[in-house]
Amino acid sequence: MTDYDVIIIGSGAGGLTAAVALARAGKRVLVLEQHDRPGGWTHSFTLNGYRFSPGVHYIGDLQEGGGLRRIYDGLDVSQDLAFIELNPDGYDHIVVGEKQVDFPKGRENLIERLKGHFPHEAQGIDGYFADMDAMIRGLRNIGRMDKPLEAAKGAGNILKWMRATGADLINAHINDPVLRGVLAGQSGDHGLPPSKVSAFMHAGITDHYLNGGYYPMGGAFTIPRAFVRGLKRSGGQIRLKSRVKRIMMEGRKVLGVELESGEEIRAGVVISNADPEVTFGKLIGREHLSAKLKRKLDGVTYSTSCLSLFFATDMDLRGAGTRLRQYVVLRSRGRGQDLRGRFDRRADARGDAAWDVPDRDDVERPVEDARDGGDGGTSYLRVVRVRGL
Ligand SMILES: Cc1cc2nc3c(=O)[nH]c(=O)nc-3n(C[C@H](O)[C@H](O)[C@H](O)COP(=O)(O)OP(=O)(O)OC[C@H]3O[C@@H](n4cnc5c(N)ncnc54)[C@H](O)[C@@H]3O)c2cc1C
Repeated sequence: MTDYDVIIIGSGAGGLTAAVALARAGKRVLVLEQHDRPGGWTHSFTLNGYRFSPGVHYIGDLQEGGGLRRIYDGLDVSQDLAFIELNPDGYDHIVVGEKQVDFPKGRENLIERLKGHFPHEAQGIDGYFADMDAMIRGLRNIGRMDKPLEAAKGAGNILKWMRATGADLINAHINDPVLRGVLAGQSGDHGLPPSKVSAFMHAGITDHYLNGGYYPMGGAFTIPRAFVRGLKRSGGQIRLKSRVKRIMMEGRKVLGVELESGEEIRAGVVISNADPEVTFGKLIGREHLSAKLKRKLDGVTYSTSCLSLFFATDMDLRGAGTRLRQYVVLRSRGRGQDLRGRFDRRADARGDAAWDVPDRDDVERPVEDARDGGDGGTSYLRVVRVRGL
């Protein structure tokens, strides 16, 4: 007899989504989280009276009918969520050298804005967005038995770009190195340089924000809070400060988990929200893995780690305006170095990316903007160095 139908290791966005869906489907669900609060990267923490949310700057696809909104609605967690829209005329400010391009809400608005800044690339911009749309459509229709023709057409697009990188997609259409940088400006969202990220991931991120960006009112922690409430409403449970030490196995069959405290909890299904190395390498153990899976695990390279600095300001952001916005400043290695040169020198590019420590100008620019700009409160500054285009 098992204690639960399903144990979920980890209460990140992925773990909690699975937990709520399964609990709503009538399963007996237990979520085990090592931290003292739920949410994984969507948690918030408080320091000296200031609340910080490290892993959520903005969320897309929340417009009426949007994919993420449908997930929140479908899981019945929307009732506990409220979002504030970032400035619809510029939810992302991409700064490449001297050039600043503000990304407006709406696919057509963005295309028009890009063409306004880079009229000589109008045709390339159309081609880039057309290919991106076809890729996203292809992914959405994959395996759709009810629409075989569209599924087949989509498969063609998937095959075409399957092995391509984000840089391949951009470079296939765009020649201007500054525009290439601008289109790579959201790379910080997936954490890889365009030369290393899959073209589909790049397209997916751009597509995710095409209808604007939103911030959870009160901070990121409101998202896991809504999910935990939803989980409990459906009879599911969560235990915090409960680190799983191992997934118990009998041959290839899962029996449950053992916690670091030594406690054993039994379930027929265990879902791990931890990364592959933790899940397969530690919790299951390499001795239980097939040679194929071991090879796959050994081939995983983890993306760049990052250092986040959290600032608090005593300026009256509310007085400066109500609109939220964020800056992404793309920088070359040397201070003041021309990005054009950096993006042109493909042969030199090692293809790495790093989150850069902002210098005084980078910090002051958005703060001054918030103070002088009427409608703009500044919430976020991300300084990203992207190389490898
Ligand atoms: C700096 C940063 C900024 C980001 N900005 C955005 C953004 O603006 N918009 C956006 O949409 N996304 C953003 N993201 C991405 C988003 O936050 C994450 O992709 C997402 O939250 C990851 O969710 P997850 O469920 O996959 O994993 P995680 O959040 O990593 O959750 C895994 C959970 O498993 C737990 N766990 C691991 N091992 C064990 C164990 N042995 N026992 C028990 N528990 C365990 C961990 O404690 C953790 O709670 C950002 C990410 C980062 C890092």
